[in-house]
Amino acid sequence: MKFQPRASHFIDGEYVEDTNGAAIEVIYPATGEVIARLHSATPAIVEQALNSAKNAQAAWAALSGTERGRILRRASDIMRERNYDLSVLETHDTGKPIQETTVADATSGADALEYFGGLAASLTGEHIPLGGGDFVYTIREALGVCVGIGAWNYPTQIACWKGAPALACGNTMVFKPSETTPLSALKVAEILVEAGVPKGVYNVIQGYGDVGASLVSDPRVAKVSLTGSVPTGRKVYAAAADGMKHVTMELGGKSPMIVFDDADIENAVSGAILGNFYSSGQVCSNGTRVFVQKGIKEAFLKRLSERLAHAKIGDPMDEDVSFGPMVSENQMNIALGYIEKGKAEGARLVYGGERIERDGYFVQPTVFADVTDNMTIAREEIFGPVMSVLDFETEEEVMARANDTEFGLAAGVFTNDLTRAHRIVAGFEAGTCYINTYNLAPVEAPFGGSKMSGVGRENSKLAINHFSEMKTVYISMNDVEAPY
Ligand code: NDP
Repeated sequence: MKFQPRASHFIDGEYVEDTNGAAIEVIYPATGEVIARLHSATPAIVEQALNSAKNAQAAWAALSGTERGRILRRASDIMRERNYDLSVLETHDTGKPIQETTVADATSGADALEYFGGLAASLTGEHIPLGGGDFVYTIREALGVCVGIGAWNYPTQIACWKGAPALACGNTMVFKPSETTPLSALKVAEILVEAGVPKGVYNVIQGYGDVGASLVSDPRVAKVSLTGSVPTGRKVYAAAADGMKHVTMELGGKSPMIVFDDADIENAVSGAILGNFYSSGQVCSNGTRVFVQKGIKEAFLKRLSERLAHAKIGDPMDEDVSFGPMVSENQMNIALGYIEKGKAEGARLVYGGERIERDGYFVQPTVFADVTDNMTIAREEIFGPVMSVLDFETEEEVMARANDTEFGLAAGVFTNDLTRAHRIVAGFEAGTCYINTYNLAPVEAPFGGSKMSGVGRENSKLAINHFSEMKTVYISMNDVEAPY
């Protein structure tokens, strides 16, 4: 098998296998064919990975930030040099079109390695002068062993978005990819070692949720960073709380996108397309509730349908293809189930709405109009190519309806009224907001959710605070005064 890795796990700088672990079949979503066979980690593998991360941590943290940063930047360069091969692997792992994976996966991972590699040398504490000559200084310290647990939609990116800031701060990591997409994180580990990351600093082990759970509850682990669904986030957060561990939770969403009647319709349609159908809709921050002001609703739907007819659906390895399969049969069935619910609850099907008759797990880009706030498709995260278009009349009304959700990951507004745009984003209950665009996530900008969509932020300088902590040192320049 062309994509078969040398072994399932990467621990202490080496590929490691334990065939006693439960079987994991990796399926190419465009054809349904098995492209690799792996094994879930046994308790012995989990033990080996955690020990290796624990043993490697002190020496890694003792390097200067400049040295750690140089290694991470070298890894970034290697990743960019291999972008095409890594993209081919990612396309087979996830089914996402090569047109997307060549620009949004290894490249995004490389950005994270470059950015946090660049920051590593400037991570410091501070000097705080006090009265009478006393002062405090703070030491920024690594947390220790960090666990990363990934979802299946952006496996390379997630492995790097978690690994790069963790390693920059002097932590070590055990990363567990989703068992649906286990291949690319192994390549990230290989590249890191090739770039000079010492053995044991970045380990990858495979497994189902039980493996993730055993990592989270282990006392050697200081921090858990999860990208996944809200139900999993709740379990992982609770398990981490038991050991008082640090957490970052990047969870699901049902984000609103508001289109006012003064907006540039072409741009709004582009935003709605990117925010609903990129990666076949399998993006956490998607703006799946598209609120369109009444006067422009039919014009918006007409242009949307015309533009969707130009989506090139097919073999994701074809560079002209812009819309590929869903990641798995299971995820396809979830999306098809929601489409049936949309039809049954009375939403108007404007585009798509069916499975595509060909090998693999293809679902048509689907648009429902006349969706109301209480319909299931407007309330629950679908994680598939299903857009709900809702009507609104006034700004006040749409603001309240946009926020009427347990989620708070992202939100967007399209309008040419400058003050209204800023008023709207000020009112959004969401971690990441967009004005006249949607779904961009550059490494320089904080990314993460509020409400049920998460805790903490990834990317940007803020991520450093989530992978390090401050030690306070008080220095007295005076005699000690005691009362007796
Ligand atoms: P899941 O929540 O099902 O799984 C996420 C990861 O957690 C997987 O690796 C999973 O392993 C693991 N896991 C499951 N149960 C446990 C447990 N009890 N303890 C520890 N780990 C566990 O999410 P999906 O993989 O289905 O991904 C889709 C979800 O991810 C969507 O809800 C989406 O919104 C969210 N997401 C959020 C993003 C963000 O940045 N906010 C970005 C991308 C996706 P296994 O798969 O083997 O069960």
